[in-house]
Amino acid sequence: MGKVIGIDLGTTNSVVAYIDRGEPKIIINEEGGRVTPSVVGFSKNGERFVGDIAKRQMLINPDATIHSIKRFMGKRYKDAGNDLPLVNYKVVAARNGDCVFDVNGRMLSPQEASAMILQKLKKSAEDFLGETVSEAIITVPAHFTDRQRQATKDAGTIAGLNVLRIINEPTAAALAYLHDRRKSATIAVYDFGGGTFDISIVHIDRDLGEVRATRGNNALGGGDVDRLIIEWLIEQFKKEHGVDVSSDKVVRQRLRDAAERAKIELSSALETEIHLPFLMADAQGPRHLQCVLPRATFEALASPLFDATMEECKRALSDARLTVDQIDEVVLVGGSSRIPRVKELVREFFGRQLNQAFNPDEVVAIGAAVQAGVLEGEVKSVTLLDVTSLSLGIEVEGKRMAKLIPKNTSIPAQKVQLVSTVVDNQKTVKIHVLQGESPNADENTSLGEFELQGIEPAPRSAPRIEVKFVIDANGIVNVSARDVRSGISQQLNIQAPTGMSRLEMDRARDEATAWEKNAEHAGELKEVRFQIERQLTQIETLLREQRALLQRNDVQEADHALKRGRMALTKAQDRANLEEVHGWLRRMLLALNEKVSSNGVH
Ligand code: AMP
Repeated sequence: MGKVIGIDLGTTNSVVAYIDRGEPKIIINEEGGRVTPSVVGFSKNGERFVGDIAKRQMLINPDATIHSIKRFMGKRYKDAGNDLPLVNYKVVAARNGDCVFDVNGRMLSPQEASAMILQKLKKSAEDFLGETVSEAIITVPAHFTDRQRQATKDAGTIAGLNVLRIINEPTAAALAYLHDRRKSATIAVYDFGGGTFDISIVHIDRDLGEVRATRGNNALGGGDVDRLIIEWLIEQFKKEHGVDVSSDKVVRQRLRDAAERAKIELSSALETEIHLPFLMADAQGPRHLQCVLPRATFEALASPLFDATMEECKRALSDARLTVDQIDEVVLVGGSSRIPRVKELVREFFGRQLNQAFNPDEVVAIGAAVQAGVLEGEVKSVTLLDVTSLSLGIEVEGKRMAKLIPKNTSIPAQKVQLVSTVVDNQKTVKIHVLQGESPNADENTSLGEFELQGIEPAPRSAPRIEVKFVIDANGIVNVSARDVRSGISQQLNIQAPTGMSRLEMDRARDEATAWEKNAEHAGELKEVRFQIERQLTQIETLLREQRALLQRNDVQEADHALKRGRMALTKAQDRANLEEVHGWLRRMLLALNEKVSSNGVH
């Protein structure tokens, strides 16, 4: 078994870690960073960039720079209303109703876009560790539905990773704590990231952790805080210039960038100046945005969001049947937990100092690596029992949902439910699987419908059909059914739970592999070209500085070499050709250098 890596696939940033001699370590990416922006960008000629480079092109090429991908993972377009205003690129509905990105006419599913990030993380890990990496643990927000988990797993598969386990982000943070501390405690993990908020209450008994409750909101994160600042900035601009710039894409991207920077600055400063020259121009000339955002104004703007997280904390405690004074420590996770007002609210709510020993950007990846280490056998005797964060059930008469596995049930979990027919001689039974907390079927996430076919003719209510729901350790749901009378059992698969069919997945995987090969090939090609350029510079230097030591025909040969080399750089596209020229130039340079030194000796 090669190294298993732990990946925090974040809305804003991603981090990858591994276990080195029993201890978790962060993997440094190609750019030398510990975190990789979760951004994928495309150039006009279809070149792909991931991470820092992609983030840099966001301002100039917003249409073809995909960020906040996680907000759209496994999501239906009709449910993405709150997420759409947060991005400038085009999100459309796929044929099956799921969200897809339209990048200048090329359709890209969130799974494929995430796979591009995962491919980069995989490569960083391989370069860093010096070995092939093919297995990973990936974390997801505790509140991810089955579809979102499946979509994340599929992204891993497309990227060429065997995803051994999907674990909840706050659970990963608790694992990091467990690995580090090994003492009994009840902790609250407050995880406020770029796109989601989660709170988990975890009881730790030395080397055994048990999640008692988990709550959260999949559409509440730093991006939403930024949006409030953007709206405030648009308002300021309107007040001063009387112009509404809210629908201009490039302006919005600049505002988003400025808003995030201002927010981050306000984590250490009491006020921040926002200056965006030439935000727009009209008949009266260029218009600039210049204003001061005091921390107090920012806090007032964002307070409904902060309060919403505190409400979830209250509910999580009540779910866990605990009071605040039974919480021993609070661990902060996610970039947005750095906001001073957030820290203050959490401190006030729990009535204690916060644990600041863990880096909120890295603790989730560290926990994922600990889980990887457990599976590899490198980390011993650490066990964490997780819970399902959403209830699972089926649709019953009156478009209502009957809960079969309630939220906060320890996973893996399973439940068997008997169903039957409603009319005489009914041959099929339709089962609609739902996930969520609402009593109304329509308000929950539909995981899919399936039909058990071939039921033997019988009066209504006579057939006994056992439907078995299983939630595995990844929080992923499997459903199977068995006709008790005939004894025939059938494995029923929820139809394309992630919105991508097997065929589409295979195609995406093939494309990703082909891209990897191409990238490798392009990299090698670039390397040979670079070597040729270097050789040409050496010949030029030789001609310039050692001309006196060369015969006339040597000079002619050197000129010929320069011509041939330059020609190869402009014309030759295939590697064999370039390598031939490279080899020839090497011999030529050797011969010229020998002549220079022997002529120099005479
Ligand atoms: P994460 O998903 O954990 O990577 O968190 C990313 C979010 O944290 C983004 O919305 C960032 O703008 C936000 N963030 C990062 N650093 C800070 C900071 N110092 N103060 C406020 N927000 C921050």
